[in-house]
Amino acid sequence: MITPKVDVPDLPKCECGGEIPAHVTSCVVCAESVGFPNVRYAERAVEVAALDQRFADAKISAGARGSLERLEAFGTAVDKSEAVVSRSLGDLDVMLSGGGKLMQAYHPAVRAGLRVPQNNEHDPMRDVNDARVSPHFYDRLHYAALSLDRRGVPHYGDCAITLREDRTAKRTTVFEENPVVFNGKHPLGKGRPLPYGYRAIWRSRSRLAVAKLHAKIEATTQDGEFAGILMQKAPVPEQLAEPVDAAEGAAVEADLTDFIEVHVYGDLHPGAFAHVSAEILDDPIEQLLWDRAQQRLGDFGITFEEVSA
Ligand SMILES: [Zn+2]
Repeated sequence: MITPKVDVPDLPKCECGGEIPAHVTSCVVCAESVGFPNVRYAERAVEVAALDQRFADAKISAGARGSLERLEAFGTAVDKSEAVVSRSLGDLDVMLSGGGKLMQAYHPAVRAGLRVPQNNEHDPMRDVNDARVSPHFYDRLHYAALSLDRRGVPHYGDCAITLREDRTAKRTTVFEENPVVFNGKHPLGKGRPLPYGYRAIWRSRSRLAVAKLHAKIEATTQDGEFAGILMQKAPVPEQLAEPVDAAEGAAVEADLTDFIEVHVYGDLHPGAFAHVSAEILDDPIEQLLWDRAQQRLGDFGITFEEVSA
């Protein structure tokens, strides 16, 4: 059997005429800056056209169901959504020390021996799944979640760090969902490229949210429900059909929390943080770290709040 040839889009060209490879921030021929790889990738004409089509289909479908006004209100709300990275209080403590330390990104931290992958179903698959979505540049990304209430994906840590839009928007893109889940629905194979229309640049993030979530918006959906639709938290372990222990519960939660994944290219410094929402455990060490963090957060001009689980 002959597999049909996949139509791979041409690479964009630098002003010097040289082709710009997917992963670079400067031209390999003339060294001029060519922008951020994830942004360039999301701006490819095939991606934009496919997302436009999904967006138009979503509106037609909502019109037929009588929910178009509510869907448009959802889109307007998501225009103001923010990127939230979840980290442990210990990680936050390190980042706030001295003049501020850089956030560790998952893949470089593993390669540098600073982080140990967990022995679960997920972690061994992260490289291959992230690489398929963000070829050649996945290990330069920070991964966050799109949020309307400054709450993050709890599995990744009890401190939800909202990023400053003015320090990140130009280098940030959004992707449909967790790549492990996405690739499960759209399997890898020869002649089967990653489908287009499931990513967007930052200022188009609401178009992706509308395209993805339109079926969950009813004519009766209230504004107050939008946050829980954009980021649909996993059921707590007690709500699952079969009982699981704590470690298993965390893995299940990571699998079942549905969110739009945010990709931020390059370094993240506390100077790019806007706000921290922390769930502080009833534990003396946690209390000590949180007391210390509050002073330093103030020094960095980062607002904060303690929230209940
Ligand atoms: Zn060039």
